Amino acid sequence: MRAEDTVKSKAYQLTTPWQFKETILEHDVKKGDVVVKPSMVSICHADLRYYTGQRRKEALERKLPMSLFHEGIGEVVTSKNDSIHSGQRIVIVPNIPERLINSGSEISTERKVADNYSKNSAFLGSGYDGIGQEHLVLPGENVVPIPASISDDIAVLAELNSVSYQALKHVSEELSDGQVAVFGDGPVGYLTAAMLSHVYQIDRSNLIVFGAVEEKLAHFDFATTYNVKTFDFRNFRGVTTVIECTGGKFSETAIDQAIDLIEPQGRLVLMGVSEERVPINTRDVLEKGLKIYGSSRSTSDDFRQLMLLFRDTNYQKTLSKLLPDQHDTIENVDDLKYAMDRTAEHKGWQKAILDFKW
Ligand SMILES: [Zn+2]
Repeated sequence: MRAEDTVKSKAYQLTTPWQFKETILEHDVKKGDVVVKPSMVSICHADLRYYTGQRRKEALERKLPMSLFHEGIGEVVTSKNDSIHSGQRIVIVPNIPERLINSGSEISTERKVADNYSKNSAFLGSGYDGIGQEHLVLPGENVVPIPASISDDIAVLAELNSVSYQALKHVSEELSDGQVAVFGDGPVGYLTAAMLSHVYQIDRSNLIVFGAVEEKLAHFDFATTYNVKTFDFRNFRGVTTVIECTGGKFSETAIDQAIDLIEPQGRLVLMGVSEERVPINTRDVLEKGLKIYGSSRSTSDDFRQLMLLFRDTNYQKTLSKLLPDQHDTIENVDDLKYAMDRTAEHKGWQKAILDFKW
């Protein structure tokens, strides 16, 4: 390979929990690829689980050292793809489909599976170096131009929203046949509920959000909110679709309450990630004839749709509530460690956002 077909990338790799090291990676740049200089990321719970060592030991040993982050935007610095030009402001799509990694070689899966469920896809910041590096090389399909009317701050929320967009697609046809409930008052619950309100036009009386923290629930002014601690799930009528956005140790109770709540032949979409297995009340799932969907990763197409939807200024206003007053500027590994330590320690309701200065 000729020298101009590779690019050096300064990277902040997590070597063990709580520790970053600056290193230089070298990436091949193939035909159809673009080189992106990341400018901004938001920190995900998944990043914090690696950083604080909350993943299983085997997972940490297998995946580290690795640059973190999968929610981010940047600028194209070199393009070998006809549809993208250098200088473009873009959102990064972290899921690299198997068909693009092994282009030309034989695809190993026999059955055709959607990009986001394909076993051999790569995902940035999960076993594959993420956005926390100076030069990211991506297939052209993995970058989505940001329209001028969308600010960096709003655009950086695209990845998190794309996951909700993908999840809601499973039930989009049936959202109007009853009330819709979201379990979870954190960022994922907020963005999912905001999407139901702005994109699917579900009004306040038909959109319910369940949470446990009053201050968090107060942000959901476009929905009817209830506290799970005092709500009578067995005797409430009318909810036909539930989107579960809790995850972790809250999954078990949320799923249990959702099964109590949903009307016969209703639907439950699971979005909350849990490291442990979660017991499910299958007796009532059977008796009510419920459908359960799992959804976590999104595709490039979801991001493209979002760039159209995000142009709505009312939607932008709702999304911006999740943005912090200040970003952290990252110029070296010490800045990064400081920002990650603080975020791990004070998990606020709003997202933590990092501006990279390479
Ligand atoms: Zn994430």
